[in-house]
Amino acid sequence: MPIQRLSPLLVNQIAAGEVVERPASVVKELIENAIDADANHLRIEIDRGGLERIQIADDGSGIAEEELPLAVESHATSKISTPTDLDGVSTMGFRGEALASITSVARVEIRSRTPGSDHASVIEVEGDRQEGPRPASGPVGTMVTVHQLFGHVPARRKFMKSEPAEMRRISRIVQRIAMSHPDIAFTLVSNGRTTLELPQRSNARMRILDVMGNELDSQMLDLDTTRDGVRLWGLVGLPEVARPTSQHQQIYLNGRPINDRSLSHALREAYRGLIEPSRHPTAILFIQMDPSRVDVNVHPAKTEVRFRDDRLLHSVVRRGVLECLESADLTPSIGVMPTPDLPSSGSRLFGVAGRHSGGSAVSGGGSGASHRSATSSSSSAAGPRGFEMEEARRLEQEVSEIPQAASISMPSPSPRSTALQVHKTFVVTEDEHGLVIIDQHALHERVMFEKLLERVSSGPLASQQMLVPEIIDAGDGHFEGLEQLSPLLPRLGLDVSPSGPRSISIHAFPSLLMERRVAVGAFVSDLLERAGSGGIPVRDHEEALREVLDMMACKAAVKAGDQLTAQELADLLEMRELVERSSNCPHGRPTTLRLSIEDLERQFGRR
Ligand code: ADP
Ligand code: MG
Repeated sequence: MPIQRLSPLLVNQIAAGEVVERPASVVKELIENAIDADANHLRIEIDRGGLERIQIADDGSGIAEEELPLAVESHATSKISTPTDLDGVSTMGFRGEALASITSVARVEIRSRTPGSDHASVIEVEGDRQEGPRPASGPVGTMVTVHQLFGHVPARRKFMKSEPAEMRRISRIVQRIAMSHPDIAFTLVSNGRTTLELPQRSNARMRILDVMGNELDSQMLDLDTTRDGVRLWGLVGLPEVARPTSQHQQIYLNGRPINDRSLSHALREAYRGLIEPSRHPTAILFIQMDPSRVDVNVHPAKTEVRFRDDRLLHSVVRRGVLECLESADLTPSIGVMPTPDLPSSGSRLFGVAGRHSGGSAVSGGGSGASHRSATSSSSSAAGPRGFEMEEARRLEQEVSEIPQAASISMPSPSPRSTALQVHKTFVVTEDEHGLVIIDQHALHERVMFEKLLERVSSGPLASQQMLVPEIIDAGDGHFEGLEQLSPLLPRLGLDVSPSGPRSISIHAFPSLLMERRVAVGAFVSDLLERAGSGGIPVRDHEEALREVLDMMACKAAVKAGDQLTAQELADLLEMRELVERSSNCPHGRPTTLRLSIEDLERQFGRR
């Protein structure tokens, strides 16, 4: 076939393949147009998953009658006019492609009226056939109706999922856009039934909770920080509202929802150690920055963007979210569920509030509980210190100032609280809020991890030379791992090198692990094997480092079943107070649970 110019229709259909992949992408483009037209109310009607009909009516600025034919022409837009405009796009659209693409794969009617006009105008377009514009009736604003999407593109129709599945995608897109535009009211109607009704709101928090559910109100922290000219704000969920999928995670750039792997990674990094790796944080983040610092023109649907300085943004997100989480008290409290129907069983159910409901409750207070607890060591632990000490004194004073206030029974903990090891696995003690139950391994692991992290950030880990190098049997995986990890090993206090075709020698080992009597050969063998099989992200040095420290902490920590000496117990509790984020172990399991004094009082009928 000789080379020939494609017809405009074919050009548009090809473009449509990128811009309007499915009904939800049509909805997205049309909503964006309404937003760019400064609409306050949007009504979105969908029939049969959008394949039958998509209609979006807005009360925005409208399109003048003489401009209607241009609106559906490709590369025609009112949003940019010079190449420099492309450096600072602040509207949702700018490519002038959406309406042209949609009309190439559907029958489209646009009915619009500008505020200055006394009547509306309507134009109907399908492929290269066009009718109008002609005068018609209608309110100020624009109503676009898309009939029979992909009706003449059977190849495309074949790729559609079921109608309910397409509808779910539409609903998700509407919610996503609505979260960043609280001042616009949205109504979504599917097959004649209203499925979403979002009133105009004065702030983003209200709108986000409208969409995500008000029950999250107490579990979402407010975030707002500015660094290097980038403002990061939004809502950040407590670790306990992390989800198995990333659907409750949304990142917006200058109001536009984006998918950016680097920023999702930054978010995950901020929650590192607070949630299990298989779960995803709940967070709605808005990034605002000078539009000239981003290139939005890299993806036809504009959901991917390119940042002039992506490292900066990664760190803004990671540090911003991290600081927000650190300023919150993340020790999960144990909600006590009353068991009125079981008066004689003597057992009460505990569950972690917000984390699990009754399902995974553990029973406490059972009679045959700890046959060892009487003999296990108990000791006086470090009492409250610093701020907590002051707080405790203040409370004490308050209590003593109220004469005969028998019903107000909130004595502060004694300065020398005792701690008790239970079943060689848990440690029970008190703090100013109530009873505290600690998982000894999880807490120690967290403490070790923070210690290692702190040391490694100020230089290589202290290491101990082996008198005689320890030699381990090595396979291909070990050698591969050694090669990949070698740039990191000095920082980790490890000196390891090949010493034969099937052996590797260990010349030096971190002192801290040595003190904790970690088996040298087994540890190094595990480490190299894991690195060799891709289990450690060696390309990102900082992350790889954390991963190895994680392993070290786990190996060095006391285990469940280890009897703690009085001193070890005291040390552990003291460290708990010193270490940030000690409420969760590096793997994301909680290290500590708390049963508040109020709950105890309620359980015992004192309230
Ligand atoms: P773009 O949004 O990239 O400019 P579109 O093809 O989506 O391209 O729209 C073309 C033009 O039609 C827009 O630039 C705008 O002027 C006009 N337009 C489209 N939808 C609306 C609307 N709902 N209200 C007002 N004007 C609109
Ligand atoms: Mg547009």
